[in-house]
Amino acid sequence: MVKSREELEKHITLKEEERKWFDDPSSLPLLISDNLMSLINPEDPEDPVRRQFVPDCRECEHSWTLDPLEEVSHSVTGRLIHRYEHRAALLTTDRCFSYCRHCFRRRFTGTDSGAISKEEIDQAAGYLSLHKEIYEVLLTGGDLFTLSDDRLDYLFSALKNANKNLVLRLCTRAIVSYPQRFDDSLMKLIEKYSHDGPFMLMTQINHPRELTEECIAAVRKFLSIGIPAFNQSVLLKGVNDSADTLEELCIRLLYNRIKPYYLFQCDLVQGTDHLRVDVAKGLEIERELRKRLSGLAMPQYTIDLPQGGGKVILTHQYLDGVCDGFYIFTTPDGEQRFYPQEGRKEN
Ligand SMILES: *Cc1c(COP(=O)(O)O)cnc(C)c1O
Ligand code: SF4
Repeated sequence: MVKSREELEKHITLKEEERKWFDDPSSLPLLISDNLMSLINPEDPEDPVRRQFVPDCRECEHSWTLDPLEEVSHSVTGRLIHRYEHRAALLTTDRCFSYCRHCFRRRFTGTDSGAISKEEIDQAAGYLSLHKEIYEVLLTGGDLFTLSDDRLDYLFSALKNANKNLVLRLCTRAIVSYPQRFDDSLMKLIEKYSHDGPFMLMTQINHPRELTEECIAAVRKFLSIGIPAFNQSVLLKGVNDSADTLEELCIRLLYNRIKPYYLFQCDLVQGTDHLRVDVAKGLEIERELRKRLSGLAMPQYTIDLPQGGGKVILTHQYLDGVCDGFYIFTTPDGEQRFYPQEGRKEN
């Protein structure tokens, strides 16, 4: 595990902007697991894994906000965020096995808030039992699987008791950063609770290189006990901002039975400007991907709008307008097509 400048310099030669981070570090700590460190090519200063995990002094530029999704004002208990009517997000811990420099929850991640306590679990469960309109809960953070097996046991039990109909999303990057975590005792625990109601595995894999054999084997453990897997990538400059990289990633994800779910536009969070891709470029990539990928392999390009505006799908528009009772479309190949409005007869 790499936690200090000295340990990091045993692996790579720091660039100017990386070295300067240590003079005035941002609030998000340095932590890179051995698994991830081994994926970084020390010869390549622009390595896509390095860009995600090695800190950079540009993180300390004080632009934008720390809470663009206004999660604090949507919190209904100490740890539960109820932003959308039928689903809620529970912050199970601020800890991760490695910290991503693009983390959108850096107001909270790595801040010493620690693992969710039993009292906080009870509070969240109390709210969920009174709000049966919530049928999905995202167990997120931080990384859920930094919790001990005992605490996970308490958490699953409390939530499943609060509402029998809940779908629980297990949001984790540990399948990439620390796949060893998914040992027999943890998988037995998860399997035990999966009989009471569905779990969904939600991964974050941003570059094809992260799909290692160990990662795929960890995902397989979930699949083999009937838990489907979905991936949420973040569109990141110098990491995956090309149709070729994302095409390879999505095809390999699908082949390994992980459905590409979202491709997120980087949130407007402080310290991530240098990793953000312009929306116009993102839309160009989305349009190209839609030509190359099957419907199953295609993620939805999505932006979480600032000031808590919520998630919105971004996609190239093929409908140009309406004229004389017909909708006018431009096909992906650039040709025009007409489709009648209701009631319009052929003449
Ligand atoms: C993204 C998000 C969800 C889940 O949204 P989906 O579109 O269903 O994936 C739920 N709660 C919060 C607070 C979120 O940010
Ligand atoms: S794994 Fe998630 S919560 Fe943890 S640092 Fe990365 S983006 Fe943030």
